Amino acid sequence: MNGAPNETNGVHKKVLPRLQIINEKQEFTKDLPPFMKDEWQIADVGFNYNLVAVFGSQSTGKSTLLNRLFGTSFDVMNENSRRQTTKGIWMSRGKDMNVLIMDVEGTDGRERGEDQDFERKSALFSMATSNVIIVNLWEHQVGLYQGANMGLLKTVFEVNLQLFQAARGKEKTLLLFVIRDHVGTTPLENLSNTLTEDLKKIWESVSKPEGLESCTITDYFDFMFAALPHKLLLPQKFEEDVIKLRERFVNTNHKEFVFKPNYSKRVPADGFHVYAEGIWDQIMSNKDLDLPTQQELLAQYRCDEIATVAFDAFLGKIKGFRQPIESGKIIEDLGPQMEEIRNATIKQFDKDASRYLSEVYKRKRQEILNKTNSQLHVFFLGQLKNLTKKAINTFNARIQEKLKGEGYDFAEVVSNARNDVETFFKNNAESIVLSQTDWTFDEEFTQLCESMNEIAAKSRIEETKKMIKNLEKNVQAQINEFVSLYFKTPTTDMWGKIIGKFQEALNKAEQQLLKKAKSFNSTEEENAKSLENLRKRSWQQLRKKIDDELVDNMFLLKLRERFEEKFRYDEEGLPKVWKPDDDIDAHFRKAREDALKLIPLFAKVQIPDGIDLDIPSDEEFVFEESLIILSETKQHDLNVRFKRESDAFYLEAKRSVVATTAR
Ligand code: GDP
Ligand code: MG
Repeated sequence: MNGAPNETNGVHKKVLPRLQIINEKQEFTKDLPPFMKDEWQIADVGFNYNLVAVFGSQSTGKSTLLNRLFGTSFDVMNENSRRQTTKGIWMSRGKDMNVLIMDVEGTDGRERGEDQDFERKSALFSMATSNVIIVNLWEHQVGLYQGANMGLLKTVFEVNLQLFQAARGKEKTLLLFVIRDHVGTTPLENLSNTLTEDLKKIWESVSKPEGLESCTITDYFDFMFAALPHKLLLPQKFEEDVIKLRERFVNTNHKEFVFKPNYSKRVPADGFHVYAEGIWDQIMSNKDLDLPTQQELLAQYRCDEIATVAFDAFLGKIKGFRQPIESGKIIEDLGPQMEEIRNATIKQFDKDASRYLSEVYKRKRQEILNKTNSQLHVFFLGQLKNLTKKAINTFNARIQEKLKGEGYDFAEVVSNARNDVETFFKNNAESIVLSQTDWTFDEEFTQLCESMNEIAAKSRIEETKKMIKNLEKNVQAQINEFVSLYFKTPTTDMWGKIIGKFQEALNKAEQQLLKKAKSFNSTEEENAKSLENLRKRSWQQLRKKIDDELVDNMFLLKLRERFEEKFRYDEEGLPKVWKPDDDIDAHFRKAREDALKLIPLFAKVQIPDGIDLDIPSDEEFVFEESLIILSETKQHDLNVRFKRESDAFYLEAKRSVVATTAR
C-alpha cells in the first residue's frame, strides 16, 4: 500500500484523520472546529502553523506525495481500478508538525473537458488560505506551454491578483514545483528555467487590474523547484528523495526551508474555521473577494466570540457582589476584587483576540472594557451609597456618645468626628475607583458633608437647650434658697439683698452660658438671644417664687407672726401677761401698725437705685408690671382681713386682764 510513511517517533502514534472540508456538492463542512481542536489539536497554536495545498492533474501521484511528506492518509487511487477522482478538498494535519495540508482534487477539469468552475473556486480558496502551494506535474508536462497545467496556472495568477492586489510585495505565496518521474537526462536546472520562462509568458497574458499593469510575477510569488524519480522504477531513490524534500518543510535551518514569515495569511489557528468558511461563502456567492476585507470580517467575528466568552465568565464572577451590596453591606476589598476580575477578563480577551487585525482588536478591547466597567460601576455606586450611610451613622453615633459624657467641647467633638468620618469615606471610596475609568465620588462626598452639617446643627441646638435648662435650674435653686431666707424675717433692705443675690446668680449663669456657647460655635446673634431668654426666664422664676411665698394665707401668717411678736411677747421674747394698768390699746396699735407695714413692703419689688437688671419686655411680658406683687385692691383686702384677725387678739388680751382682776 502507498499509505502513510512508517515513521513512529513523535507525538502522534497513529495516523491523523483527514476531513473533507469541501464536498462534491461544493458545501463547506461543519466539522472543521472539532477537527482543529480535538482531532488535530492545532486550534491553540495561534500563528504558529502553516498551510500547504497541492495542485496538479489527476493521478499524478499528488496524494501519494502528500502522504509520504506529511504522514497523512489522503486517498490514493488504486493502481488496478483507475476510477475517476471526485471533486472536493480534503484537509489533514501533518504528522509531528504544525502544518495543515489540503489535497485539492479535481483541479484538472479542462483535461477532462469539464468546465473550469471548480478549478477556479478551489484555486481562489487555496490562494486565500495557503502559504505554500505544491504544483505537481510529470516531467514530460514541462514545456507544454499550452497544456492543462498552464491553464491552471493562469487561473491561479488571475485569482491571486484579485486577492492580493492591495498586499503587493508584502505578502507572497510560494509555488513549489515538484517534477515527478524525473528521468534525469535533463537536469532540474534546465527544467526550472523552462518552467520559469513559461510562467513569465503566462503572467504577461494575464490581464492586470488598473494601476497594476506593470507589476511582476515576483511581486506576488516566490518559486522553488524539486524533482522526484519514478516511484515504481526507482522505489528506493524515490523514498530517499522524498525524505530529503520533507526536510524543506520541517528543518527551519534548511537553506530551502519553505515557510517564510511573509507567506503567512495572518489567520490565528482558532479563527481558521471562521476565515476558511467565510472565504468559501464569498467564493460561492460570486462576490468580490479581497483579503483585507476578509481579515477584517474574521477579526470582528472572532473578537466578538472571544469577548462573549470572556464576558460570560466575567458575569459569573461578579454575581456574588449584587446581593450584599443591595442589602446595604460594605464589601471588603471590593476595589481590588473588581480590578482583578476585570483585568483577568481583559487578559483573557487579549490572549486570543490580540492576534487579530490590530484596529479591530483595539476597538473590541475598548468595547469589552467599557462593558465590564459599566457593569462594575453599578457596584461602585451601590458601595458608595452604603459607605455614605455608614459614615453618617458613625458620625451621629460618635456625637451622641460624646454628648452623653461630661466635660466635652462640642465644636471639638464635631470636628474630630467629622475628620474621622471623612477619612473613612475617602479612603474607602478611593479604594473602589478602578484604573482606566473616569469614576468619581465628589457628589457623594458633598452629600455626606451636607448631612453631617445638618446633624451637627441639630445636635448643637439640642445641646444649647440642654445647657440653658441646666443653668436655669441652677439659678432657680439659688432663688428658692435666698428668697425663703430673706422672706422669713422681712426687713426694709430685703429687696436690695434679694436683687443683689439674683443679679449675682444671673451673672454667673450668663458667664457659663457664654463659655459653653464658644464650644458650640454659636453666632453672636444666637448668644444674644440665649442670654435674653436666660434673664427673662430667671426673672420669671424669681417672681414665681415670690408669689408662692406670698399666697393669701401665707402672707396673713407673716403679718400675724410680726404682730404677735410685738404684741404677745416682751423685749426678752417671753409671753406677755397683761396687768390692769398696762396700756393695751397703745401696745395693740403699735403692733398692728408694725405688722401692716409689711403690706406696702411686699406690695412691689424694690429695685435698688443704680441697678439695671436688663430684663427684656415683650408683648406678653412687661418688666415694670412684673414688679407689682400686690395690687391696690389686694392690699386693701389684706388690710381689712388682718385688722379683723388682730381684733381677736385685742379682745383676748382685754379678757385676760379682766379675769386676773376678778380672781
Ligand atoms: P493523484 O490523483 O494525483 O492524487 O494520484 P495518486 O496519489 O492517487 O496516485 C495515482 C496513481 O499513481 C497510483 O496508482 C499511484 O501508485 C501512482 N503513483 C504515485 N506516485 C507515482 C510516481 O511517482 N510515479 C508514477 N509513475 N506513478 C505514481
Ligand atoms: Mg488524489
